[in-house]
Amino acid sequence: MRRLLLAAVFACLCVSPATPQPRGLKVHISVDMEGIAGVVTGDQIGPQGFEYGRFREFMTKEALAAVAAAKEAGATEIVVADAHGNGENLLVEQFPPDVRIVRSWPRKLQMMGGIDQTFDAAVFIGYHASTTNPAGVRAHTFSSATLTKVTLNGVEMSEGSWNAAIAGHFSVPVVMASGDDAAIAEIRKVVGNVEGVETKKSLGFHSALTLTPQAVQGMIGPAVKAGLARRATLAPYKPQGPIVVDVTFKHYLPAEVLAYLPMFERSSAHSVRFRAKDMAEAASVMEFIGEYRPDLAP
Ligand SMILES: [Zn+2]
Repeated sequence: MRRLLLAAVFACLCVSPATPQPRGLKVHISVDMEGIAGVVTGDQIGPQGFEYGRFREFMTKEALAAVAAAKEAGATEIVVADAHGNGENLLVEQFPPDVRIVRSWPRKLQMMGGIDQTFDAAVFIGYHASTTNPAGVRAHTFSSATLTKVTLNGVEMSEGSWNAAIAGHFSVPVVMASGDDAAIAEIRKVVGNVEGVETKKSLGFHSALTLTPQAVQGMIGPAVKAGLARRATLAPYKPQGPIVVDVTFKHYLPAEVLAYLPMFERSSAHSVRFRAKDMAEAASVMEFIGEYRPDLAP
């Protein structure tokens, strides 16, 4: 009882206006699927695939490993963005009740939906290499069907580095990424020496030497904690100067038609270039390019 009374006194002291409240730790976790342990083909990554049901379970468990580690490291708020396919892959009922989950598209900030300047760290789970990388399981940037290159201020982007730039817009550092060996190498080359969990070695676009789901789920927690512990030393990725984005399409027509809009310049037969005032605006333009169709309907 006496200890309780003392605790009450200290609690009162802590909330006095003269003493600022310690700020909570907010962590954003963006979860893709191609870099999840065991994923190699479309059989795992879409509702039509015969292994999809099991692999969305593995994807969820890798995300949950990151959530648990963030909480153990002191996270008071966690937002998880389902950033693959239809955006409806994560099994939402398996998450702790205080976690919030961003689902489905279209949405502002794309794979980083839900992040803002109040966050302290970003984590990438299940990421894959870019469309310009000859290595990497299911390597693509935003759309394997339509895009062959995305550059930001002349630097070839992977989804990891593009999303790191969105986090950087809000001064949030990426602290940890998981995915295949090619994805981790690309993120480190552009973004910096973040903690990494290599879930598999790419043997080709549709083949990998993979760790088991259980093995990777066990590795994610320590890496998230190590990244969060180092977060003050990891600089947010902030491309300098005005944002100039070049997007190259597989086919001529998207470039031709987008260039009717004054904000796009036809930089080559298959490419358009646009300028954005910041990464948030650039992300919205990319989301438009990926999502717009004249027959969009609810
Ligand atoms: Zn994906």
